[in-house]
Amino acid sequence: MTTEIRRPISLAARDPRWSQEAECQYTDPELFFPVGHSKAAVEQAERAKAVCMQCPVRDACLEWAVATGEQFGVLGGLTQEERWALTKVTPRGPGQAMDRCLEAREQILAWREELVPLRRIASLLNVDRSVLRAALQRFSRDDKRQHDLEVAA
Ligand code: SF4
Repeated sequence: MTTEIRRPISLAARDPRWSQEAECQYTDPELFFPVGHSKAAVEQAERAKAVCMQCPVRDACLEWAVATGEQFGVLGGLTQEERWALTKVTPRGPGQAMDRCLEAREQILAWREELVPLRRIASLLNVDRSVLRAALQRFSRDDKRQHDLEVAA
């Protein structure tokens, strides 16, 4: 008889349709929730992804995570940011790229607060870095204008 210890499973495996087969049920759930973007956090995410790559229900997990917009953790072999990028189509030209940045303003600012490098954000958004820089400048200008309006009121 095996004495296998089943730890609490990751968020991904909460769906009863496939949780019994989830590879992560045998893994410390903390592994799937790296914090920040330090070297250690990136390595942790890679280890979690390696578990997902062995998982027989990875496709179902990823589909569920994208469909529900799950914001946290490595699910279906992708980080939250990678899942976000997966749902975005390639912009046609700088105009569409800027529109994408403007639409993603809150997400971009959250990534900046987490010290995600510009290069990485541009890649996730599938836009040129110069467009992303221009969008960040525009955010700053908009914030300053809003601040000035509030002060003048
Ligand atoms: S794909 Fe990863 S997170 Fe999803 S159930 Fe499998 S091991 Fe867990």
